[in-house]
Amino acid sequence: MRLSAIHMLAASAAPVRAFVASAAPSVARFAGGSSGIFSGARQGLRGAVLASKARPVSRTMRMANSQRLGDPIGQMMDKTDVFIFDCDGVIWKGDSLIEGVPSVLDRLRQAGKRIFFVTNNSTKSRKGYKSKFDSLGLSVEPEEIFSSSFAAAAYLEQTRFKDTGKKVYIVGEVGIEEELDLIGVPHFGGPSDGSKGVELKPGFALPHDENVGAVVVGFDRMINYYKIQYAQLCINENPGCEFIATNTDAVTHLTDAQEWAGNGAMVGAIKGCTGVEPTIVGKPGPLMIDYIIQKYNVERSRICMVGDRLDTDVLFGANNGLMSILTLSGVTTEEKLLSPENKINPDYYVNSINDFFPFYT
Ligand SMILES: [Mg+2]
Repeated sequence: MRLSAIHMLAASAAPVRAFVASAAPSVARFAGGSSGIFSGARQGLRGAVLASKARPVSRTMRMANSQRLGDPIGQMMDKTDVFIFDCDGVIWKGDSLIEGVPSVLDRLRQAGKRIFFVTNNSTKSRKGYKSKFDSLGLSVEPEEIFSSSFAAAAYLEQTRFKDTGKKVYIVGEVGIEEELDLIGVPHFGGPSDGSKGVELKPGFALPHDENVGAVVVGFDRMINYYKIQYAQLCINENPGCEFIATNTDAVTHLTDAQEWAGNGAMVGAIKGCTGVEPTIVGKPGPLMIDYIIQKYNVERSRICMVGDRLDTDVLFGANNGLMSILTLSGVTTEEKLLSPENKINPDYYVNSINDFFPFYT
């Protein structure tokens, strides 16, 4: 089963190879060779982690209030070479494309802007996201997509996890499995444990694999007590076992009718029984943005982060020295943004990214 999954991904991995091929000229210097499909990514991330130690001063700390984008060219276009878009609530809501998005992306490309998509949703791999973009009629290159499932795999590459000979236990879905397959890291759990339970009879102890060196926790629609207990045993009882969270988003959009419990719930369950803080590889952590900066040699100050969420997207931009734009097309209302209780302020906000080109709509 696992083998066929690897073959399936390897067969379609040409774009991914292209994605990492130019990431770092010094791949050969990396211990363990460059046989992995992620050989460039591991170098990029390694350097990115080092670079992230020189973090710039937060933009948010300098901002008193948010203001509506009124002069897109002067306030934004002239100051930006790269746009990083969150997906859910910005490009689509659930499975519905937000109106006007394709033409906005086309106009940005025509203006010579570079575009990336960064999502905290780990249920899909980059390959899975490419399929979603395709199904919505959006033409996107694989190297333009950064998912937190990719970030988890890239982090394991950067920390040379494979060299330890250990395994990963997954609380999460197929996106994490596919990304770990691509880097050849053994794993189990995930969807396979979705229907497992425990029989609590006297004296029962759940056995666990002492060779698990990391637990990766991503959004999991089939989380259960078995998985929580298994993760708890690995983290609490296996010496040095890492706790890696793809993200800690409180809520997410499973449907466009209401907010649904996000990966913060899954991570919170594991934190609650271990007392361990996870390493967060998705937004608002710096890993993905540092990778983009290093790989594409772009100026941090000329990157604009566009997202619908204050505590991940805008904070991600602020923590990493980027311009940030909040769009009201997702989870955040104008009332919440402008309330005295809100302490996280973007540089500008818009109704949707259609406001980038107000004269065309
Ligand atoms: Mg979003």
